[in-house]
Amino acid sequence: MRKVYLDNAATTPTHPKVAEAMQPYYSKIFGNPSSFHSFGQEAKKAVEDAREKLAALLGSQPEEIVFTSGGTESDNTALEGVAYALEKKGDHIITSAIEHHAVIETCEFLKMRGFKVTCLPVNQEGLVDPEAVRQAITDKTILVSIMHANNEIGTIEPIAEIAKVTKEKGIYLHTDAVQTVGHIPIKVNELGVDLLSLSAHKFYGPKGTGALYIRKGTRLVPFLHGGAQERNRRGSTENVPGVVGMGVAAEIAAKEMKDWSEHETKLRDYLIKEIQTRIPNTLLNGHPTQRLANNVNISFKFIEGESILLNLDMLGIAASTGSACSSGSLDPSHVLLAIGRPHEEAHGSIRFTLGKETTKEDIDYLLKELPPIVEKLRKMSPLSK
Ligand SMILES: *Cc1c(COP(=O)(O)O)cnc(C)c1O
Repeated sequence: MRKVYLDNAATTPTHPKVAEAMQPYYSKIFGNPSSFHSFGQEAKKAVEDAREKLAALLGSQPEEIVFTSGGTESDNTALEGVAYALEKKGDHIITSAIEHHAVIETCEFLKMRGFKVTCLPVNQEGLVDPEAVRQAITDKTILVSIMHANNEIGTIEPIAEIAKVTKEKGIYLHTDAVQTVGHIPIKVNELGVDLLSLSAHKFYGPKGTGALYIRKGTRLVPFLHGGAQERNRRGSTENVPGVVGMGVAAEIAAKEMKDWSEHETKLRDYLIKEIQTRIPNTLLNGHPTQRLANNVNISFKFIEGESILLNLDMLGIAASTGSACSSGSLDPSHVLLAIGRPHEEAHGSIRFTLGKETTKEDIDYLLKELPPIVEKLRKMSPLSK
């Protein structure tokens, strides 16, 4: 059976060169980077090389990169780290209604600890209004956290505009850039953020490895208390193979992301156009142009996204109803509700996320199989009568 993977926003395959570069660090070069002897120093050198590669990708100083276990830990560290460091200054955090669960749930946790959180709405295309950020700021605001691009609908947020507001008011700005690092050119100084989360497995690196960019001088309480690793910003022995792999992934992405993006944009626009021509009663979710090159999110009226997924999976096609984290729950996506989709339409949505390896043949296979599935399900659906 043909296998087509269209769930690259959930995770990407590890690049063969990344896997190859990691291999020696499991057995041959196994030292603890904190150890003084030559075994440790060899591992330490590999970790610091990777830090430089990440810094080059983001246009930051190497010292501003802290390695973590992934996007979730980076988000938790940014929010809790700033909240506890600045709790004497203020107790107010601003975020958006379409954040990843790693941000939403951390905000919920902080609310239980007495912090106040303003959750800004988005427009129908999923955009946060920088003026709304300005209006939400009070003299108690300590942090604004708005994602760079949404993982479900692909909308890219005006972070540089938001940064103008936060800079003017002297408030820290964090962005969850897990969907954009390695895909869109990012320079932290141009973006104007103080903290930025990234995760290796979303750009062809290994799972369980990420980083948090922390602008020099930013006050932050460590999330993991322990040893003095990462300049006292994160205890725990570094995941040396993971960090090495992420460094190589960053290096490859810096060279190739432009080609990936051009390739994906072409296939994305073809897929969107063809679905809309071949299948009636479909709606594109997210911004028509200010969106990730690989994201196609469509609401199919009158039917359940889960049933479409099941039928596609039987034909070897992998897609998603939204975020990997909310699959398995029956609640409709908070992102689709936030852009104003009614419950039925939110339930009938599918996210296809392409990758650098996706081919026109893959998309044509999907375009051949999808219309009859939708037609069959609609015939059985009470909603379409
Ligand atoms: C995948 C993802 C995360 C979580 O990253 P992990 O490395 O899997 O913990 C956070 N935010 C966004 C936007 C994501 O897409």
